[in-house]
Amino acid sequence: MLPFKLVYSDDYYLPIGTHVFPAEKYQRVQRRLIETGAAEQGDFVAPRPASDQDILLVHTPQYVQKLKTGTLSAREELEMEIPYSPELVRAFWLAAGGSILAAHHALKDRVAFNIGGGFHHAFPDHGEGFCMIHDVAVAIRRMQRDDKIRTAMTVDCDVHQGNGTAAIFAGVRVPSDPLPSAGGMAAGRPAKTRAAHAGDVFTISLHQEHNYPAWKPPSSIDVDLPDQIGDDDYLAWLDNALSSGLRQFEPELLCYIAGADPYREDQLGGLSLTIEGLKRRDELVFRVAKARGIPVMVTYAGGYARKLDDTVTIHCNTVMAAKEVFAG
Ligand SMILES: [Zn+2]
Repeated sequence: MLPFKLVYSDDYYLPIGTHVFPAEKYQRVQRRLIETGAAEQGDFVAPRPASDQDILLVHTPQYVQKLKTGTLSAREELEMEIPYSPELVRAFWLAAGGSILAAHHALKDRVAFNIGGGFHHAFPDHGEGFCMIHDVAVAIRRMQRDDKIRTAMTVDCDVHQGNGTAAIFAGVRVPSDPLPSAGGMAAGRPAKTRAAHAGDVFTISLHQEHNYPAWKPPSSIDVDLPDQIGDDDYLAWLDNALSSGLRQFEPELLCYIAGADPYREDQLGGLSLTIEGLKRRDELVFRVAKARGIPVMVTYAGGYARKLDDTVTIHCNTVMAAKEVFAG
């Protein structure tokens, strides 16, 4: 039995046909965790779909109405990059409900997973990049509305910048110009960090600079990584960003967006992390959160490895990392 819960439903499957996004990955992860004995049936809890009221804590009534009535424009559907269907809407409402439930369990057990979610490219008024609804933002706003938390931090380690997250939590402020990194890494071209913060949710994104999205609205901390960065440099930047963020801000919940796509064999990524390096990444986030007593809610976001098995391994390893760090 794990010392934390895994929120999962077979209905997380996204009905999007043949697509670079492997919609079956959630079920594959769940099966693998059971088969390898890493988890047992009792570790899993089933989500209920988010209510429309929950979704409206983040998304505009106009957008929600379009989704519920199937009246997105052709352009809006194209931008989402997944084919609209009422079934797809249900899957995203369920993913958001899963993140709400995972946040709830994280506050009780120090850590919890949504074996899904992490749809960080969704904006209040439109979807983008395979993301219709921003489940993580919905979960944060719901926890705040219920007075469970006042503040949260997102730590986004997907290879793509969390543009939706940055936009949703930007609050009212003047966008700042990119700042050159103060330190810089020892070897190779240094990554650049940008910083701007105002509000009750502090957003950190580590991502490949030369990748989607072209326009990157400012997160509280953005680490724009050069192409092909490897394990050690990546982990140093992550450590740096976490320390800097936690010096500036005290979150009551940390939402870890554990994308599998910084992997060197990813089809949509251009970084060079190994499977082992990605697990060290997960351990680092969990160790830092545990040391400071900050509950962690995990979501999965992207993962487009040439071999689906690798994506499944990376996602399963995130559970193993939590098990190791939070045991005892
Ligand atoms: Zn991604």
